[in-house]
Amino acid sequence: MTHPFRLDGRIALITGGSSGIGEATARAFTRAGAAVIIMSIEPARAQAVAGELANSRVILCDITDEAAVAEAFRGIGRLDILVNNAGIGLVGNVEETSLGDFQRLFRVNVEGMFLVTRAALPLIKASHGSIINIGSVAGMIGVRRRFAYCATKGAVIALTKQLAVDYPAEFRVNCICPGTIDTPFVEGFLEKYHKHEKDKVRQELKQRQPVGRLGRPEEVAALALYLASEESAFMNGAALPIDGGWSAA
Ligand code: NDP
Repeated sequence: MTHPFRLDGRIALITGGSSGIGEATARAFTRAGAAVIIMSIEPARAQAVAGELANSRVILCDITDEAAVAEAFRGIGRLDILVNNAGIGLVGNVEETSLGDFQRLFRVNVEGMFLVTRAALPLIKASHGSIINIGSVAGMIGVRRRFAYCATKGAVIALTKQLAVDYPAEFRVNCICPGTIDTPFVEGFLEKYHKHEKDKVRQELKQRQPVGRLGRPEEVAALALYLASEESAFMNGAALPIDGGWSAA
């Protein structure tokens, strides 16, 4: 195996590929030889990222819009790898969570993943491809004041395992469960909920993970690359924490 983890000639679609973990994954995949489709709702950022990557293009699409997802897939002829990465967060225990916020989180994190996966399925089946869902440690353990977020990420793990059982010979599907990763997602959380105590809370986030630091988007992207590549041919239906030991503590 002289050149492991190569994706030469493969076509990958990454939802939310213009930021954070999705962006790092787009960079890792193109470096490994794949052509990448960045699916995003943020035109400027998506074009900026695609502009830096040789073999990439942008499809603007809100993954919660069924008609828009169907339209987006009309423009895709082949697909080998799908990374369901787009997602949003929310802070609050059950009493602090409004029905509207709960539904909004499920619309993006779960319904969006369902719509994109269903639309991609004929192409992924045809290529015997690999689906990689981005879940979270929050789907595996209870995280304080993340009622809706934990519920959505638990659903992501469940739908991953279910798909692996229905289609074991057609494609592979696995779920990555990151701990806290240093992305705009976390910065946005600090800005919104802890504007005046960012450093203190950032320190708490680090200490929550036994290795004592936040993860880097590139570290999650490396696991996505493994799951996309032939080297992971025996991996199916797995939910893999990558969390500096958080879920082990
Ligand atoms: P970012 O906020 O940096 O990226 C999320 C991406 O999803 C953005 O590009 C965003 O677009 C996109 N997105 C959101 N809603 C939609 C939508 N309706 N349609 C299309 N795209 C959409 O976050 P991260 O990179 O940190 O997170 C990526 C994934 O990783 C998420 O699923 C998150 O839950 C998960 N995760 C993150 C962790 C962390 O600590 N960072 C930990 C565990 C899991 P836009 O920029 O336009 O809003």
